Amino acid sequence: MLNFLLGFMNKHKLNKREMKELIEIADNKRSWHPNFSKYTEFIVNHPNYKGLYFERGEDKRVKWVVTGKSDKGQERRKWWDKECKKHGIQLGAGCYAKIALVIHPTKIHTCQICGKELSLEYAYPNKRAIAGFKKEFGISLSPFSKDIFQIIDEFVKSSDDVEKIKRIFKIKSSEKITLENLKDYLRKNFVEGFAKGFLSPGAMSNSPDRYDGFHSDGNCCRHESDKGRHKANLQRYGQDRRVYENWADGDWKMADRLMSIFRKHGISADHIGPISLGFCHRPKFHPLTKDENSAKNNRMSLNDILVLLEDEKTEQVVSWHSKFIWDKLKGNVDTDINAVKLSSIMRWIIRG
Ligand SMILES: [Zn+2]
Repeated sequence: MLNFLLGFMNKHKLNKREMKELIEIADNKRSWHPNFSKYTEFIVNHPNYKGLYFERGEDKRVKWVVTGKSDKGQERRKWWDKECKKHGIQLGAGCYAKIALVIHPTKIHTCQICGKELSLEYAYPNKRAIAGFKKEFGISLSPFSKDIFQIIDEFVKSSDDVEKIKRIFKIKSSEKITLENLKDYLRKNFVEGFAKGFLSPGAMSNSPDRYDGFHSDGNCCRHESDKGRHKANLQRYGQDRRVYENWADGDWKMADRLMSIFRKHGISADHIGPISLGFCHRPKFHPLTKDENSAKNNRMSLNDILVLLEDEKTEQVVSWHSKFIWDKLKGNVDTDINAVKLSSIMRWIIRG
């Protein structure tokens, strides 16, 4: 990370301080989901965070993000150190993750991009568990769409189902688990036992950069396949529908149709302007074999940038949450190496 930033700074004569400022500005200027705005006000006004440094911008919005090594970051760090001591948590690796969870008043984090509320506990099936549910129950779960307790309420109805859960979580068959105590068992051994490789938290530790010590990493809202939740959220957010619809902008219908045609021919489709970097879901792809696709993952070439700049004359190519950084840097890309650097910066910035 540092190397490419240094390279980028040399190339474009940005010094270290300017680069840090750019990252902070990009983070703090990015559009927020209205739910996240409410969340930031709730947190900064909560007594648990009394004395933890923050400023407001000209728009009165909380400057949620500081860079860890800046003076402001150091000031936040001192506060977290004090809280660790107050709560008997030893300073050292992982201490901020622990204290941020202890301090958090609700243990529910709101995503900056999509406004979804996710538990900070290890409550969401990871890829491995999702594959298990597919195999044992025949259901396709979207990542972070439901926590393990909601899934159990919905799908576990008999002692046979309990056995399926035991197989998914590799629990010894000799363990006495019933329909009645299943949730308690999973809470004690997996959710509070930090999951043992089956469950993930709804946000990752990120002190002192993010004020509350967590970032959701956009995990909840960057899945192309996540149509079900997309629909559910549209209903849920009512008047915020327009904002929500725009989190990954683009011509979804056309893009999906074209993608499925590629798939039918055994070709995987790689967006020109990857969604994971903040670009729109558009019907514009590199058709690639599966191997090529994974190798190229999240990296743009100079040619990609030129295509995006050309397309941008007539249509939107980047989603609103990443527009600021794209507009700031797109004019600087003149080589493949710079295109890769811009890809890395956009990937970094989108981690909500
Ligand atoms: Zn989200």
